[in-house]
Amino acid sequence: MTSQRTRDRLIERLLEQGITDKAVLNVIRGTPRHIFLDEALSHRAYEDSSLPIGFQQTLSQPYIVARMTELLLANGPKERVLEVGTGSGYQTAILAQMVERVFSVERIRPLQEKARQRLRQLGLHNVHLRHADGGMGWKERGPFDAILSAAAPEEVPAELLEQLAVGGRLVIPVGPVGKQQSLYVYDKTEDGVEEMLIEPVLFVPMVTGVVVA
Ligand code: SAH
Repeated sequence: MTSQRTRDRLIERLLEQGITDKAVLNVIRGTPRHIFLDEALSHRAYEDSSLPIGFQQTLSQPYIVARMTELLLANGPKERVLEVGTGSGYQTAILAQMVERVFSVERIRPLQEKARQRLRQLGLHNVHLRHADGGMGWKERGPFDAILSAAAPEEVPAELLEQLAVGGRLVIPVGPVGKQQSLYVYDKTEDGVEEMLIEPVLFVPMVTGVVVA
């Protein structure tokens, strides 16, 4: 179930769906997704689908992880990256292998703790985790070259745009809970912010406040 053949099949699927960035595909090929799931679900880890991780949250579909990572890195290498919604830590692990430093915020403490263990298990030490409401960003550690949100707000939080460096890029799903949402890219320039609509998506909502246990 976690054989190289199964993993290669996932990469073929991503290619068919239009993921072209070789570096992204290589990192996905080399990153075990099954360790980010509970054992009962790990046999489904290399399917191209989102999977439950508890607390009504999901591990994102590989296609969407690949697409968002590709978009995030498309306009040049990134050093400091903020992620909102660590969840299982899978997207975090992909990012950590492609940028210098990842700052990842999660509001549900038990998810964050599991993610921390898995990232350590993979030897990814360039990740800084924080238990907080990521809709507020992480001001002390900004500005960021790139920001990726794995949860969908109804409107883009001003804090995230504020904490983006000039030349930086925000990749974020936006839209109402359970209804049509869209993936957007925001580029911060000297003159302001440019918005690009990418494609329809379905994400868990960005929620305010934190959950301790
Ligand atoms: N990339 C993750 C996605 C997890 S789902 C993965 O593949 O595992 C999205 C995550 O965003 C959930 O864990 C949810 O708890 C978190 N989240 C939602 N709103 C948030 C907020 N305001 N601040 C931080 N995390 C948030």
